[in-house]
Amino acid sequence: MRNEGLLIVLSGPSGSGKDTIISRVLDALGDEGFLSVSMTTRPRRGTEVDGVDYYFVTPEQFRENVENDLMLEYAQYGANFYGTPVGPVRHLLAQGKTVILNIEVQGGKNVRRLIPEAIEIFVAPPSLQELERRLIKRGTETRDAIDRRLLIAQAELQCAADYDYIVINDVLEDAVDDVLAIIRASRLKSELSISRIREVMNHVES
Ligand code: 5GP
Repeated sequence: MRNEGLLIVLSGPSGSGKDTIISRVLDALGDEGFLSVSMTTRPRRGTEVDGVDYYFVTPEQFRENVENDLMLEYAQYGANFYGTPVGPVRHLLAQGKTVILNIEVQGGKNVRRLIPEAIEIFVAPPSLQELERRLIKRGTETRDAIDRRLLIAQAELQCAADYDYIVINDVLEDAVDDVLAIIRASRLKSELSISRIREVMNHVES
């Protein structure tokens, strides 16, 4: 998928604050930045909206999308499937936009293999104790589900070293600044800026 846009993968344990970071980063990027809306088989939570937070589908619909090659990547997380529809990502990258994928580590690994120029950022909590506090405070999960998520978090943290960047979300504003700095620097990389250099070289002063 060669293009002039920038593909950003953001992974991190549930409760690491990556959703909040992403929404602040999108605010700052304005119409330069887009979040890919994933497809999932998990049930919709309280305030979530179909087509905005996720495309909520049945396992059969999900399988059809995979079989028809409509997914950039997909993975099983807990009892559910999650995947990135490829069409919108391709379209936005072709327009030179920055596209953010909020995906778990298996998906991150698949994207790394498929699109080596993607920039991968791992968001980590300051500690596992803090992660547990945040999950309890969020109040969307049962104690059992929280314990399962904490176990998954420990396995996910083992994958942090495979990412290009690690951002510790201790103070939210700092973490948002870190992600924006990574995006800014990545956009200045020569591969993306080469067309700008061509423009400069072709520009003749009159
Ligand atoms: P949640 O159920 O809390 O919304 O998401 C659970 C996990 O699935 C999160 O780590 C989230 O980043 C991940 N996830 C969401 N969409 C996708 C996707 O399209 N692909 C993959 N691989 N993971 C996803």
